[in-house]
Amino acid sequence: MANNDYYSTLGVNKNASDDEIKSAYRQMAKKYHPDLNKTPEAAEKFKEINEAYSVLSDKQKRANYDQYGSADGPQGFGGGGFSGGFGGAEGFGGFEDIFNIFSNFGGRGATAQAREEAEDIVTDVKLTFQEAAFGCKKEIPITRKERCQDCHGTGAKADSDYVTCTECNGTGRVTYTQQTLFGMTRTVGTCRNCGGKGKVVKNKCPNCRGTGLKTINAKISVDIPAGIDNEQIIRVSNEGNQTASANGVPGDLRILIKVENHPLLVRKGFDLYVDVYAPITTLLIGGKVAVPTLKGVTNIDVAPLTQSNTRYTLKGKGIKYLKGLGYGDIIVTLKGEMPKDIDKNTMKLVKELQSAIPDKAYPKTNNYKKKMEN
Ligand SMILES: [Zn+2]
Ligand SMILES: [Zn+2]
Repeated sequence: MANNDYYSTLGVNKNASDDEIKSAYRQMAKKYHPDLNKTPEAAEKFKEINEAYSVLSDKQKRANYDQYGSADGPQGFGGGGFSGGFGGAEGFGGFEDIFNIFSNFGGRGATAQAREEAEDIVTDVKLTFQEAAFGCKKEIPITRKERCQDCHGTGAKADSDYVTCTECNGTGRVTYTQQTLFGMTRTVGTCRNCGGKGKVVKNKCPNCRGTGLKTINAKISVDIPAGIDNEQIIRVSNEGNQTASANGVPGDLRILIKVENHPLLVRKGFDLYVDVYAPITTLLIGGKVAVPTLKGVTNIDVAPLTQSNTRYTLKGKGIKYLKGLGYGDIIVTLKGEMPKDIDKNTMKLVKELQSAIPDKAYPKTNNYKKKMEN
């Protein structure tokens, strides 16, 4: 069964004209073209839009889709060969029977009226590094289509303006009789007069101009979970666009997360990486070095004669796992810094220090020298 409603994919109603479909397609394609829209779901959406348009812009495919819920004609019926012509139909006892079978065959539109589905809304929200790490509540401003409160989505000015369709007597389905090569055929399709609603509007609701929908600015309160990361998406069910019909399926709200960088900590997964600088003398004689964490500064103990680029792991001081218990780590890389300006006397002391330390105290340097000589 097709998982998409092509009409709602393009945001048009079921009796949209070819021109309306074309212009809706142009707008949607522009909005979701992967070159113009960098959100992760744009490519998928763009594909859906193209698929929808390829069907709805083709008269035969659209007619099949309206009738069977598929551009290829009836699904699951003897290998789906039916759309290629009527040649395979012998043995079913006449087309009338076949079409009557189809109409009971579960294809969308061939049985009960399809439930209307509304579009999702995509927006983004900026979070500070801390907000993403610890979670937060955000009021997200959105613009969406909501059911008109005046007409409750019917699009009619008054209840008496919402009347039963005379073409289909309120069933939303019409039997069309067609002359074909093989004689008369009967096909059951969506009523074009009412678009399958079974009702038509006599006088339009002035509040929504008969569409049953109003564009509303709303604020949605969303709990952002601790551990969320940049470029992730939070989906809030049913907070997207609404359908005019009260038993339609509302769209979802999809929120693309944008997280600001931390001035020092670099996030990779749930771990945080930081380069920490200390005077070279601290690495020589040892001492405490301050390290930034998510909750203020902590100190690490640096042992005497510590090499530059030594790594320290602060277990469990990283980001909370988005799913599951526990936290990542902070991984500290200690960098020894040389002094920039020192006076002559101090330099003399350093020279004394140099001659006081024997060559064998530098195994790496010696090893390197040896390799050079060979
Ligand atoms: Zn009708
Ligand atoms: Zn209205």
